[in-house]
Amino acid sequence: MRFNIVGAGPSGLYFAYLVKGLDSSHEVVVYEQNPASVTWGFGVVFSDRALEFLRDDDPHTCEYLTGHLERWNDITVVHDRTPIAVDGNGFGAIGRLHLLELLAARARERGVDIRYDTRVEDVDALADADVLVGADGVNSRVREARRAAFGPEVEYRSNRFIWYGTTQPFDTLTLTFRPTDDGVFCAHHYRYRADMSTFLVEVTDRTWHRAGFDRLDEGATIAHCEAVFAPDLEGHEIVSNRSFWRRFPVITNRCWSHHNVVLLGDALRTVHFSIGSGTRLAMEDAIALYRAFADHGGSVRDALEDFESRRRPTTDKLRRAAYTSLAWYEDMDAHVALSPMAFTHSYMTRTGRVDDAQLAKMAPRFMDAYRASGQGA
Ligand SMILES: Cc1cc2nc3c(=O)[nH]c(=O)nc-3n(C[C@H](O)[C@H](O)[C@H](O)COP(=O)(O)OP(=O)(O)OC[C@H]3O[C@@H](n4cnc5c(N)ncnc54)[C@H](O)[C@@H]3O)c2cc1C
Repeated sequence: MRFNIVGAGPSGLYFAYLVKGLDSSHEVVVYEQNPASVTWGFGVVFSDRALEFLRDDDPHTCEYLTGHLERWNDITVVHDRTPIAVDGNGFGAIGRLHLLELLAARARERGVDIRYDTRVEDVDALADADVLVGADGVNSRVREARRAAFGPEVEYRSNRFIWYGTTQPFDTLTLTFRPTDDGVFCAHHYRYRADMSTFLVEVTDRTWHRAGFDRLDEGATIAHCEAVFAPDLEGHEIVSNRSFWRRFPVITNRCWSHHNVVLLGDALRTVHFSIGSGTRLAMEDAIALYRAFADHGGSVRDALEDFESRRRPTTDKLRRAAYTSLAWYEDMDAHVALSPMAFTHSYMTRTGRVDDAQLAKMAPRFMDAYRASGQGA
């Protein structure tokens, strides 16, 4: 069979690797608009739980990636200047480019043809393959070319975020919430290499306008963020990588496939970065689609139907959790009125998926401190 895959992100590369392993006579071609050594963003984080899912499905890839991760156990929530540690979490992070290079190397070893610097404009021209996979991210051209069939909905949320990096190597996954005269600035930051950290800044739309970001150029924007987070950066600079202010698009599709065309990863559905699961979901999509082809062999229609019916319920749960998480960030200016302990508790329970009893199991030291502070008794 011939598979054309648009997009060499985590979903496209990983599916290419898996499906080529199913049958080495499959012809698998990945088209990527960027050169091989270029991507957007900095590091991405995986929770240990996310890695467990991957370990169950594909222990080899899990082991392979685990060796390349920066690891830590705690989350730190910084309420203005007060850091609160939340134990028992367990995370790993890796540079996005590094992850893509590892996935591409494995796919190439299996004989996948990856064509970088090749932007797909004419989707129909690739649909003559047995299967055309749209793994081309939030602005998917494949999805747009079949808009009526997929029925996408895209909802841009109000908060603004910008994905930066910094040379400051933070110890833990840290969420810093710093009140300013313009409103609260939040930074999501964590080390993904011995000498580099992701540093993602998020503000409400009101704060963004009050701080004048609509009028500031790139240098002035970085300078403003460096000033707000000076106590955390400790003299390290903020680094840009094609970084610009964005509003998060919540994407869903009514149908996941049409004839021989199927969507994967962010093209299919996005989950807010605050639950750190987009890459994991993209890779799990790849596993689910691969499994569907393993089970249904040559019947493309059965495989694609099976993919959607098995995968949709699981991803819907995470999608809902991501949605309540992003809504919590939209109200962060109100949440910071809480004490540091109560604020951290609100943060940890924001998706509604963890109650106090579960939190006490996951993070006993934090819950002891929380109760000792006179709350949650
Ligand atoms: C700010 C931010 C922080 C994030 N942090 C995390 C995190 O910590 N942990 C986590 O798990 N997830 C995180 N994510 C989510 C994660 O990045 C995505 O969910 C994941 O990259 C989706 O993978 P994908 O393969 O579906 O799409 P993408 O990674 O977007 O890859 C799509 C690829 O398709 C290519 N492409 C697009 N159009 C064309 C075309 N017409 N022709 C050829 N190529 C094309 C693009 O260049 C790109 O390489 C974050 C996302 C954002 C925005």
